[in-house]
Amino acid sequence: MRIYDCKTNHFENPVGYGLEGLRVSWKADSTDAAEQASARVTVRCGGEVLYDSGDAALDSLSTPLPIELRPRTRYEWKVAVTADNGDRAESGWNVFETAKLDEPWSAEWIGSPLGNEVPPILRKRFTLDSLPQNARIYVTGVGLYHLLLNGKPVSEERFLPGCTNYDEWLQYQTFDLLPLLKTGENELRVLLGDGWYKGRVLSGKNNYGDHYALLAELHLDELVLGTDGSWEASPSPYTFSDIYDGEVFDPSVAENWQPAVLLPEEKHTLAARAGVPVRIQQTLPVSELIRTPKDEYVLDIGQNMAGYVRFRCSAPAGTRVHLQFGEILQDDCFYRDNLRSAKAEFTYISDGTERIVEPLFTWFGFRFVKVEGIVPDPADFTACVIHSDLQETGFIKTGLPKVDRLIQNARWGQRSNYLDIPTDCPQRDERLGWTADTQVFTGTACWFTDAYAFLAKYVRDMASEQKTLDGSVPVIIPSFGMKGNSSVWSDAATIIPWTLYTYYGDPEILRAQYGSMRSWVDFIRKTDLENGGRCLWLTGFQFGDWLGLDSEGTNPDNTRGGTDDYYIASAFYYWSTHIVAESARILGYETDAARYGLLADRILSAIRAEYFTPTGRLAITTQTAYVLALHFGLFPPQTAQRTIDELAHKLNLADIHLRTGFVGTAYLCRVLSANGLHDLAVRLLLNEDYPSWLYAVNMGATTIWERWNSVLPDGHLSGIGMNSLNHYAYGSIVDWMFRYLGGLEPDEKVPGFRKVRMAPRPHPRMTSTDMRYDSACGVYRIKWELRKDGSLELDVEVPFGAQAELVLPNKNGAPVRLRAGRYHYDYVPDVPFAAPLSADTSVSELLNLPEALEVFESAGFDPMKIMANDRKSPLRTVMKHYGSEELLEKIEAAFAARA
Ligand code: BGC
Repeated sequence: MRIYDCKTNHFENPVGYGLEGLRVSWKADSTDAAEQASARVTVRCGGEVLYDSGDAALDSLSTPLPIELRPRTRYEWKVAVTADNGDRAESGWNVFETAKLDEPWSAEWIGSPLGNEVPPILRKRFTLDSLPQNARIYVTGVGLYHLLLNGKPVSEERFLPGCTNYDEWLQYQTFDLLPLLKTGENELRVLLGDGWYKGRVLSGKNNYGDHYALLAELHLDELVLGTDGSWEASPSPYTFSDIYDGEVFDPSVAENWQPAVLLPEEKHTLAARAGVPVRIQQTLPVSELIRTPKDEYVLDIGQNMAGYVRFRCSAPAGTRVHLQFGEILQDDCFYRDNLRSAKAEFTYISDGTERIVEPLFTWFGFRFVKVEGIVPDPADFTACVIHSDLQETGFIKTGLPKVDRLIQNARWGQRSNYLDIPTDCPQRDERLGWTADTQVFTGTACWFTDAYAFLAKYVRDMASEQKTLDGSVPVIIPSFGMKGNSSVWSDAATIIPWTLYTYYGDPEILRAQYGSMRSWVDFIRKTDLENGGRCLWLTGFQFGDWLGLDSEGTNPDNTRGGTDDYYIASAFYYWSTHIVAESARILGYETDAARYGLLADRILSAIRAEYFTPTGRLAITTQTAYVLALHFGLFPPQTAQRTIDELAHKLNLADIHLRTGFVGTAYLCRVLSANGLHDLAVRLLLNEDYPSWLYAVNMGATTIWERWNSVLPDGHLSGIGMNSLNHYAYGSIVDWMFRYLGGLEPDEKVPGFRKVRMAPRPHPRMTSTDMRYDSACGVYRIKWELRKDGSLELDVEVPFGAQAELVLPNKNGAPVRLRAGRYHYDYVPDVPFAAPLSADTSVSELLNLPEALEVFESAGFDPMKIMANDRKSPLRTVMKHYGSEELLEKIEAAFAARA
């Protein structure tokens, strides 16, 4: 047996992190045992054992450590696991180190005398006679800081101190200085840039403050050197920096050191870091140097991404190398108008020295880079992909190249938009933590990566915003002053913590967020009470089914789908209340569990009374409306089938094409597969014409687009008002893929993938899937293939400590209960997956058979002409109305030839 993935508060060996709700987790594998019989956690500090749980029933997903933490102290812990068959294993020592906790800062905030418009470098020189045993710096700065010791970066991390609601909390980091310290003279330099704090974000600059400031404390054994009046300031060679507009790097800027100034800044908002490090995660070469019809030099990276390019440059002194970043070429030329007001450019003014140049305080969302000032040699350029450092946990392949590309596109969507905060897009003048975008993508993110810590910081930020808003949740987090709310967007406050709980099985997220979750529901309740108290949400601004395609009227700029805003708002009011009630129950808050449970029931009754007829007909007849009714269980008792039929009918009327926006798309295919309409879900996935996921893939997309038709068939953008090519929201389809193609469905009642249902769904058009998921409990693998002869091969793996209920596809009999282990099946299904290729098969079944489609095509017959209502009938019956005897004979002969 092997113990792996030992984490403290979901971080591996964290140094200087806030360790609220201190707890540890681990996984085990390489054993024949099925589960843990007991475990023993030991914590020590400086050689002394502080805690020993003894052999006990400890939860590998979250075991609290009942120890009193001291500031700036390193602790070690290990776990020994005994399995049910007596097998034993022990982890090595894992580490966590506290930051300053409540210890007061001796350092003072300092700034530069050069004014708010001149980005400074601050420095401190100090001499050491000998090297200390221990050397730490506790540091933060605004807008952004970059730390150099003796000319070398102290950390590879980018965009420190990270993005938070700075009015409420500002993170400080802890770094080890030992590797760069030397005896004799040392010099610590800190460059400051504008970043989120004072740079341009949303509607303007200086959202949280207008000046540069630094606070740092060096602890070199007993010696403490804090920022104070002895530090010096000089203008930085990064003479301009901004998240939207880019950066100017001018190494010729002359140093001019002056005493730093003390600043009367607050310290009570300081908090030990919570954010996952942001770093360069991979580099990509230039795939092509393009000379455009306008005579531009454009580098094509071949992949839409977030980050920047770094380049080697030896241009003569005074040369201005100017880079601009764009997502797509238009008419073969460089283009960036869809970035709106974001200048997204980088200027390097050469001093004649050969060096590797790269930005420091900005990044771009791009695939193409226009280069001016030099003739670029592509070999000199490298694209640096930057995002938060999340462990990748989920992989899924279908064997269909276009679908596999779509999965990659969604992954790149996450890579491009998980940069300290989850953003809507990485390129234009937004890059904001829009709550709905994040909310709908959370499930997918938790498959692709271990997203717990990243999203825990985000929802903590959300809670910090609610403090001054009576529980209301802004639609952007951090809000940058945009304080309004909307259903779906603000419901991120309940849905994200709940999703994290169900994926990772750690109740601490519910405990930490409970106040936030409940106060959001209380806020809606208050709004409702002020408007008649009908237990519905019927007032105020709503974004609705954002970018849905079924809006009424002819205004092409209408961004709102056709689903009634207040139906959506009330549905999510119900769902959030239900989540709060469930969370209260899990946390043991009995009174709240009963209270919010009752409120949820009342909302549900009110929704039924307002939006459903007594026999179960839904009054709002959009795809999204049916999807929400099914996903949240809104329909009156015993009428589920009616809602399912209506959704199917609605899809038939749309030629099996989606009309959904952000809200409906997130659950559309899940609802179909969960309700016996997997077939329609597959059809939606495999559609290649607009609107569909594969339309974008066919158009060469390498990320997920904001709109179903961001790019028109002729290659032109459909508009530039709001049109990003790297908006991950519709990537939410990947959640469905893991659940229903791979067939791994977590059981919400036994969270953290301790218990799952495995039910892969082979389909004549999707005949294999291979998925692997390193869950909170360990690795699941499901690999299946439907062979041409109709037999099915299935391999599954259940991790140590987990249980699965496996539904063998199309095999009669009860589900198989599996414990940890590897299992292999090879059988001929009791019911064949493919309907027979015959004129007596229904049209809708034939439409799923690639071979039938080929026959139709070769016979010159378009089956899509067949009206939705007729498709349930056998082809033979239908052809009476849609074709000739002769045509039917031709088709039948072709079927027979292939059978
Ligand atoms: C963003 C979205 C966001 C929306 C609000 C847009 O500008 O890019 O993705 O959710 O505004 O509806």
